[in-house]
Amino acid sequence: MRYSALRVMKEALTGHTGWKPAWRNVDPKPAYDYVIIGGGGHGLATAYYLAKVYKQARIAVLEKSWIGGGNVGRNTTIIRSNYLLDGNEPFYEFSLKLWEGLEQDLNYNAMVSQRGILNLIHTDAQRDAFIRRGNAMILNGADADLLTTDQIKEMYPFLNTDNARFPIKGGLAQRRGGTVRHDAVAWGYARAADLNGVDIIQNCEVTGFIIEDGTCHGVETTRGAIKAKKVAACVAGSSGRLMAKAGMRLPIESHVLQAFVSEGLKPLLPGVITFGAGHFYCSQSDKGGLVFGGDIDGYNSYAQRGNLPVVEDVCEGGMAIFPMLGRARLLRMWGGIMDMSMDGSPIIDRTHIDGLYFNGGWCYGGFKATPASGYSYAHLLATDKPHETAKAYRFDRFEKGRMIDEKGMGNQPNLH
Ligand code: FAD
Repeated sequence: MRYSALRVMKEALTGHTGWKPAWRNVDPKPAYDYVIIGGGGHGLATAYYLAKVYKQARIAVLEKSWIGGGNVGRNTTIIRSNYLLDGNEPFYEFSLKLWEGLEQDLNYNAMVSQRGILNLIHTDAQRDAFIRRGNAMILNGADADLLTTDQIKEMYPFLNTDNARFPIKGGLAQRRGGTVRHDAVAWGYARAADLNGVDIIQNCEVTGFIIEDGTCHGVETTRGAIKAKKVAACVAGSSGRLMAKAGMRLPIESHVLQAFVSEGLKPLLPGVITFGAGHFYCSQSDKGGLVFGGDIDGYNSYAQRGNLPVVEDVCEGGMAIFPMLGRARLLRMWGGIMDMSMDGSPIIDRTHIDGLYFNGGWCYGGFKATPASGYSYAHLLATDKPHETAKAYRFDRFEKGRMIDEKGMGNQPNLH
């Protein structure tokens, strides 16, 4: 069923009786060509591009709980491509370009809003670093603007530009950055994958791999064994636990990251802002809530809930640039499990086991990567070659010392 304004009007006049479920509820078949483990944004995007762009068939996505219940529905919704390093910037710019055409491609309103992102600068050294980053972005075809404090005052008059400890000395803006409604991304990809013949199977947890003589032939699940020619792991924060079942130990730690939403306020924050002297980022949702976050909780965990010291730290960061935040009431908060790689950059690669592939290590930044991650993982699965923009995301970079050590990422951001 195609979604359109005409369809909405027709359904409004006929009591909304004609809508069909966005995807089929199917039982697992005994065998597929491709089994994708994890029905998050990345797993669903992989299935969609595999079917649509690479014309592959007999694809299943196995999700242990429900579509959109993982990090894809828990993040602070920010998209951008303001990276510095060669391994990263072309990939994230590719992703931003895919976001720009995503709603037309999926025929789904994911509320892609290019409202802009502004990284605040608080020291002269930080300005130098951001100028370098802006140049790297422009060299890779992205957009970047260096703003003065006066320009920022005009855009955000309520920011504390004169804070003696953290004066705002300018900012790096990416006007094509912004926000996307997170769970709509999961639903949009699920629907589009289903329309292209993908079986989406919820409440189906992978509990083991069928591996014989160094080759993976399928998976064991809570709904029985499923054979597959290729098995693609894509479980974000559960990567370590899942791959341990195949005997692999990953260069990834799992940590909690929390998100916060205030009560609904009148429109005040037109874009996304990030604090440069600590870890705090904020945007305003279309319903009016201020959506914000900061650092990971500093210990390893698989719990989808965080603790108070980080709540305090995040709110302090916000208050430093944005004192009126202290007057807003916090409405909701939650946590998600982050797959923090050792250099802060992801892995999209084959494993040493034939037929078993891995996608993970997304740290704080995997939501914005969803389209490009799905596209390049689908490319790898269909062709057995890395996609042009994801060539650096190999396992062997840890062995060879070719880290993609992007500042502010990784399992211990202060060390990167
Ligand atoms: P998920 O949605 O977590 O998908 C993985 C799925 O695998 C889950 O649904 C899980 O149930 C399933 N699974 C796990 N184990 C199994 C198994 N054994 N069998 C079957 N299924 C299994 N990124 C940004 O770019 N911008 C942001 O602003 C941003 N903010 C964030 C804020 C918070 C609070 C959090 C938690 C994350 C944030 N991120 C952000 C990161 C981003 O959300 C993640 O990197 C990204 O969503 C991970 O990919 P995914 O969507 O595929 O993960």
